[in-house]
Amino acid sequence: MNDPIVGIDLGTTNSEISAYINGEVQLISSGDQKILPSCVGLSPDGDLLVGEAARNQMLIYPERTARSIKRKIGQDVKIKLGDQAFTPQEISAIILKELVSWAEPKLQTKVSRAVITVPAFFSDAQRAATREAGELAGLEVVRILNEPTAASLAYGYAEGRQHTMMVYDLGGGTFDVSIVTVEGDVTEVLASHGNNELGGDDFDKLLADHLLELFRDEHGLDLRDQHPAAYSRIWWATEEAKKKLSFEPYVRIREENLATSADGHPMHLDVELSREQFEDMISPLVESTLESVNKAMEDAGKQTGDLDAILLVGGSTRIPYIAETLEKLAGVPARQDVHPDLCVALGAGVLASRLGGHDIERVLVDVSPFSFGPAYLGYRNGMPYPHCYRPIISRNTPLPVTRAESYYTSYPFQTEVKFDIYQGENPDALKNIHIGSFKVTGLKPMEDYNEVLCRMSLNLDGILNVVAIEKKTGLSKQITISNAVNLLSKDEEASAKERIRQLFGEEESDSDTLGEGPEQRDIEESASPENAAWMVKEDEARLLLQRSRSLLSNMHS
Ligand code: AMP
Repeated sequence: MNDPIVGIDLGTTNSEISAYINGEVQLISSGDQKILPSCVGLSPDGDLLVGEAARNQMLIYPERTARSIKRKIGQDVKIKLGDQAFTPQEISAIILKELVSWAEPKLQTKVSRAVITVPAFFSDAQRAATREAGELAGLEVVRILNEPTAASLAYGYAEGRQHTMMVYDLGGGTFDVSIVTVEGDVTEVLASHGNNELGGDDFDKLLADHLLELFRDEHGLDLRDQHPAAYSRIWWATEEAKKKLSFEPYVRIREENLATSADGHPMHLDVELSREQFEDMISPLVESTLESVNKAMEDAGKQTGDLDAILLVGGSTRIPYIAETLEKLAGVPARQDVHPDLCVALGAGVLASRLGGHDIERVLVDVSPFSFGPAYLGYRNGMPYPHCYRPIISRNTPLPVTRAESYYTSYPFQTEVKFDIYQGENPDALKNIHIGSFKVTGLKPMEDYNEVLCRMSLNLDGILNVVAIEKKTGLSKQITISNAVNLLSKDEEASAKERIRQLFGEEESDSDTLGEGPEQRDIEESASPENAAWMVKEDEARLLLQRSRSLLSNMHS
């Protein structure tokens, strides 16, 4: 029997391993851990620490821990871990060996061959050093694969005509963008640009500094001085908060007992941060990546109109602001339906499987086949319209997924809002499929607009859970829609209705009104704002509030 070939993404921040299992390329985990932090350390007792354990000791024993070793590969340097010195290849080999130890029990055989990915801009020396790391780990490196090529393999762009893609890769510590063409088995990297010193770690730093400054302003103490344990807690809380903001409009950061004041009182950090604040912080850095994007396009001799897609790679591209910015710039969809942080490892697995003689075209992932979201009162063609629609969960999002957005009451002292949930893509909710509704009553009457979060979760079984939460009080209400992804499509729904009408001998109806089932008709469309349970998006909230205030004051005068 052929021994297996594994695919390995040996990343700056994290590394992963994949292989052909049960007819498909799968990522191999250790327990429930799919990602191995690319960290190696020696504990004070001299124990070798790899991955999470090494990462955990990093802030306390930086002199005993190596991180981001990929930046040094190919250089003639030594890295000290305590009193021992290692080459970058040796540290990388330890990471590779750990990954192989994840794979062998799963594959129930010894693993001795691998495809390993490297950035497109890696020099020959860096590639040779990566190969050497593989050999030190006991692996025959059957192919060194460019990361953007791996991404396009994961997406299956090798099929059919030639495709031109932008692969935008923003990880923890590095950024690069490549313009590639793919046709059949041939992937050509036309141009690559990037910044070896930019990534999610920089976003963490901005956020951590902000938190440390808030703490200092409140308590008069700078945790950066002489408080390593508290500092490291802030650092962990920061990264967690950043990740949460990719799916939620707000995050609360609460760290208790970070330090004790001179008079013995415990000092806490308790802050709420909005996605918008975070976006403002990182926008100069994101802007700077656009310069590389423009340079890469120029060097590749391509215009934005030539692109078939943008492929998002690297954990930091989970930040929605990044996809939005790129889509605005290039006018094509930014795809992240193959998990951005696993995409390169999975693409390496596609090539590894093919080289092992298996017929694999692309990676299979579970994605939402539809978009889902609530209707809200917004503007269409300059007029207020209560059935505006913008998805919270977009089509092709990998499952399971949880996403939340904020909505607002639409007039002063409004005490209830109604959530009408739709499946579909049309900005007019009534042209989509209504899949459920519920009201949240008993909201706190407020002169200003009141904020209500809508959190949607879709799991692998197609069960959609929708929760609405009044942000001020925590009052919440929810519904669960089972089978959300197997509902009738709009066309199926229309033709089913038509069939029933015909059975009853009714006239053919106007297709535009076909979507209005009984559930939609119970949406209150009262002309008087006091009776409506409408809600609005933030951009519209102020405008509507002003209008309804003047309406009310006219009525009372
Ligand atoms: P990578 O090097 O591709 O593994 O990416 C690691 C970086 O992605 C780290 O800086 C993580 O904090 C960041 N990251 C992972 N998940 C998310 C997320 N959901 N939102 C924002 N950043 C993330």
